Parts: sequence; C-alpha cells; structure tokens
Amino acid sequence: MARIGFIGLGNMGLPMARNLVAAGHEVRAFDAAKAAVDRAAAAGASAAADLGAAIAGASVVITMLPAGQQVRDVYLGPGGAIGKAGKGTLLIDSSTIDVETARAVHQQAAGAGFDMVDAPVSGGVAGAEAATLTFMVGGSEKAFAAAKPILEKMGKAVIHAGGPGNGQAAKICNNLILGISMIGVCEAFMLAERLGLAAQTLFDISSKSSGQCWSMTSYCPVPGPVPGSPANRGYKPGFTAAMMLKDLRLAEAAAESAKAGLGLGPAAAALYHKYVDGGHGGLDFSSIIKLFQGIPDGAAEKLLPPSTEN
Ligand code: NAD
Repeated sequence: MARIGFIGLGNMGLPMARNLVAAGHEVRAFDAAKAAVDRAAAAGASAAADLGAAIAGASVVITMLPAGQQVRDVYLGPGGAIGKAGKGTLLIDSSTIDVETARAVHQQAAGAGFDMVDAPVSGGVAGAEAATLTFMVGGSEKAFAAAKPILEKMGKAVIHAGGPGNGQAAKICNNLILGISMIGVCEAFMLAERLGLAAQTLFDISSKSSGQCWSMTSYCPVPGPVPGSPANRGYKPGFTAAMMLKDLRLAEAAAESAKAGLGLGPAAAALYHKYVDGGHGGLDFSSIIKLFQGIPDGAAEKLLPPSTEN
C-alpha cells in the first residue's frame, strides 16, 4: 500500500481521499483550509500541518485543486512538490486546468526526474463519492502504468489519452460538448413550454429521437423526467455553473493557443458568463434554463448574439 500525500480536499478531493483510505492506503491530507483537513482526518486520513508535511515521505502525491494557478503554486512554488518530494515519487494532478500549465508542470517534473500524469476526472461529486469517476490521463506509458492502480481505487474507468497534457485536452473537449449540449436542451424545453408541449412529452419523444444526449437523459434540466437530475432538488450541484464557465473558458484559451476556430463554444461561455454574473454561479449548471425561462416574450434578442456581450 502506498503512502499518499493528498492536497486539495474540497468537494471532490475529500471523497477521493476517503476512497483511498478505504482501499488501505496511508493518506496524509493537506488543504489551505483547515476545516477541510479536519474533515479528511475525520474520514481516516492523517492531518498534515502544511504542504511539506503532506509531501515528506510520500511515494505518491495527488492534487485536486481549483485551477492552474494553485497547481503551479503547489508543484513549482517555494516548498512545492517538485522541490520537496523524495526521489521516485509519482505525481498525479487530477485538477481541471489549462493545457499550457499542465504541460509546463510536466516539463519541470520530468526535468527533476519525476514521473507525472495529468488525470482530470468526469463524474462529479457523486462519482467521487461512489469511486466511479472516469480519469483521462496524460503522461508517459510508464507514468500511466504506475498511476493506474491508484486511480482505479477512485474511479471505474482510467483511460490513457496520450502524452503530457492530453488528459486536460480530453477533459476540456468533453466539457465543451457538455456546455453546448446543455444549452441546446434548455432552449428546447423552454420553447416546448411556450408552445404548450409538456416537458414529459418532449422528453419521451426526444430521448428516443435524434435530439437524445446525456444532458437530456441523465441530467434533464427540468424537474420530472429524470428523477435523479439536479432540477429535482432545486438545482443543488452537481457541477456548478461557475465551474462550467471555467471549463468553457479553458476551451476558448486552448482553441486560441491551438489556432482552432470555435463557434458555439464562445457563445455558450458568454451565456454562462451572463448567468453566473447574475449571482447563480453556485447552482448546478443545468439551472441555466432559468436564463431562458426568464426572458419575457419578445425579448429573446437580449441574449443574441451572445458573442457581443463580453
Ligand atoms: P473545491 O473548491 O471544492 O476544492 C478545492 C480545494 O483546494 C479547496 O478545499 C481549497 O481550500 C483547496 N486549495 C486551494 N488552493 C490550495 C493550495 N494552494 N494548497 C492547498 N489547498 C488548496 O473544488 P472541487 O469541486 O473539489 O474541484 C476541484 C477540481 O476538480 C477543480 O479543478 C474542478 O474543476 C475539478 N472538477 C470538479 C468537479 C465537480 O463536480 N465539483 C467535477 C469534475 C472536475
């Protein structure tokens, strides 16, 4: 069993760390918020007083942090993992961050002799709790082989996406699809309501027709048709609108640096920006249907064209 330094014990990191403890690993937990460390200790991890204490003596370091800046801080900053970890420590970053930062941290890690993978996840808090996450992994074959048995304790699918940063590329492309498809489904349910077509009827037809997609059949944005979807619990997340905005912006940034043209991605980002700015960033991302439902008759042009709004 491995000694694992786990850094970042928020909504995702805490249940992931709990599953590693349940699998018999020794987990040393550190988070910038003391309350998060206390929760990890209550879940069976040992509390690390600081970053260095989590890293010292670890054979594996796992990070689950908000964004690229925190990942740079924890790996490259003073007292960070690349400076402090012992020889042979495997580095796993499961945060969703920009491809550029992921590749920069990989490069520094490789230069210091460490194996590293970027291993962002899909599956949300429910997947983290149930150990059913999907991991999209970027890094060498050797690093992937070393990380796989650890990741399998937290997920049901561990997929090698290619070299450094390719896990982040896969995550960003997946969520680009998700952000756009959710808006399409929301617009359709709003329009159905205005046309006098019941939401359940639209669901019964479209879920068996060419409009079928995950945003409809697993995460339906109106209450009723999919009992487990956040719409049935007041849009409690799940995956917040603020996080969807973050991921769509990552897609825009990645497209810019790859000189790839996007059409609907920036439009979806502009709509999420408007929604999050309205104070709804903490709700599940499927609640963006409220943006469309809230547009009075004849005023739909207020949303269009979204690309002119930021
Ligand atoms: P969160 O904000 O709940 O947790 C992040 C934790 O990191 C916090 O506890 C924070 O205190 C800690 N932290 C921040 N900076 C730190 C530092 N320098 N050192 C130590 N700890 C630090 O976020 P989350 O929902 O757990 O998401 C984590 C990552 O997973 C994000 O990159 C997110 O995009 C990704 N993700 C989240 C979901 C989801 O449904 N929540 C799904 C897939 C991917």
